[in-house]
Amino acid sequence: MPTMHLNLETLTDARVIDEAWPVLQKQYEDKAVRRIGIQRSRWGSDPFACGATSHSPPRVSEADLRVLGEPVASRLFFVGDSTVDGFYGFVLGAYASDLREAKRILR
Ligand SMILES: Cc1cc2nc3c(=O)[nH]c(=O)nc-3n(C[C@H](O)[C@H](O)[C@H](O)COP(=O)(O)OP(=O)(O)OC[C@H]3O[C@@H](n4cnc5c(N)ncnc54)[C@H](O)[C@@H]3O)c2cc1C
Repeated sequence: MPTMHLNLETLTDARVIDEAWPVLQKQYEDKAVRRIGIQRSRWGSDPFACGATSHSPPRVSEADLRVLGEPVASRLFFVGDSTVDGFYGFVLGAYASDLREAKRILR
């Protein structure tokens, strides 16, 4: 379990902004901009993710990933970063799978 993430996730947005501010100043100096708000995930404390991330074991092929994205009986559709053979494990892959399934449903 990623302790650092969990600790961060217990902090308020204002506190995270406070903690990030000196880091931004150090990195960007006079170009640093103090944030007025942030959007963030709470992936470590998400009860469904529990801090886990997708993992493809040895010998899993791109064809296997495509199979995970196949619909069942043209009624049940699957999206997600593990259902695409390009950009596996990335937001772009998840987004591409959304577009794929939206097109499939419209057809
Ligand atoms: C620490 C970390 C850093 C990352 N950094 C990057 C990065 O810099 N760039 C990048 O492109 N990608 C990054 N990724 C990967 C990116 O987050 C994923 O590829 C993307 O979020 C996958 O989107 P998804 O919609 O497939 O799944 P998710 O975003 O995981 O969404 C699945 C959702 O389903 C919910 N869920 C699960 N089971 C159930 C259930 N039984 N009932 C109801 N809801 C359920 C979960 O709560 C979750 O909200 C990172 C991932 C991690 C973990």
